Amino acid sequence: MIEVKNLTKSYGSHLAVDHLNFTIDKGRIYGFLGPNGAGKSTTMNIMTGYLGATEGEVLIDGHDILKEPEEAKKSIGYLPEIPPLYMEMTVEEYLDFAAELKKLKKEERRKQVDQVIELVKLEDVRHRLIRNLSKGYRQRVGLAQAVLGYPEVIILDEPTVGLDPQQIIEIRQLIRDLAKEHTIILSSHILAEVSEVCDYIMIISKGKLVASDTTENLEALMGGAGSLELLIKAPKEQTSVILSKVGHIQRADYADGEETGTTKVVLEVENDADIREELFFAFAEEKCPILSMQRTKTTLEDVFLELTQQNKEEDANHESDL
Ligand code: ADP
Ligand code: MG
Repeated sequence: MIEVKNLTKSYGSHLAVDHLNFTIDKGRIYGFLGPNGAGKSTTMNIMTGYLGATEGEVLIDGHDILKEPEEAKKSIGYLPEIPPLYMEMTVEEYLDFAAELKKLKKEERRKQVDQVIELVKLEDVRHRLIRNLSKGYRQRVGLAQAVLGYPEVIILDEPTVGLDPQQIIEIRQLIRDLAKEHTIILSSHILAEVSEVCDYIMIISKGKLVASDTTENLEALMGGAGSLELLIKAPKEQTSVILSKVGHIQRADYADGEETGTTKVVLEVENDADIREELFFAFAEEKCPILSMQRTKTTLEDVFLELTQQNKEEDANHESDL
């Protein structure tokens, strides 16, 4: 449906989008997740033909967005971060104008404008000037504009930013309704939003794709990399010797326990393997009591923070290199 290949955008020496590669398949809700400045808007602006790329290409249904913009744009509707609304038009006038820009025929225009007004619940304000609408209603007008022409893919850049909690719930529900007929790509810097609404997540950090999978898989994958926290009545050296005989341990971090002569270990365990019994016997054999043992699960939140944090650290390292 959409292919993004090697997409790169630099502003001067700053790489805002760094060789992105991904494909968008029909029928899913994709979430573009990343902290502010990650490159989400830049990527979406390029995908929708609003901005040229420095390198790479975007194919929409096989059509290059830069070389065949008319063909390519037919399949996409876009709600940019700041929707280009005309404040002095009424909702209906604006949507009619947007439909004309999308080259809908006159009778089709009337019909579709009525339909999208109903769809995004703008009936009450259809004759009001956009200038006089609240942020929530303006966002809906932007959404209605993106839906006009019923494009296969609807791209929404941070659709809930600046809305109050009630409006956020309504917009999310609208997005779910739209997803029944359309493929949706939305961006957000809020993990909870993406994991709640989307069934596929792409995490982007410093212009790079750092993770990309179904929400389910990401949660399972991350949940699988669980860790065990142990408190052992033995010095560090002895603890590490005993642990070296136990399988499935990917990594062990040691620290002194609060009581003298104790060691705290955090173990990263492969594939959710349950090694608790093995640990018990290994330490018992050496007459080293395990004072406590606790399982902790990594949440998607931890992963998101870690993935986006790593990049910050790399950045800090770069800065100190200079
Ligand atoms: P996001 O939408 O994820 O918050 P953006 O795509 O807006 O991120 O920005 C990515 C990076 O590119 C940021 O560091 C931002 O400062 C920079 N940037 C965006 N637009 C411009 C521009 N027109 N000129 C220079 N730098 C820009
Ligand atoms: Mg943005």
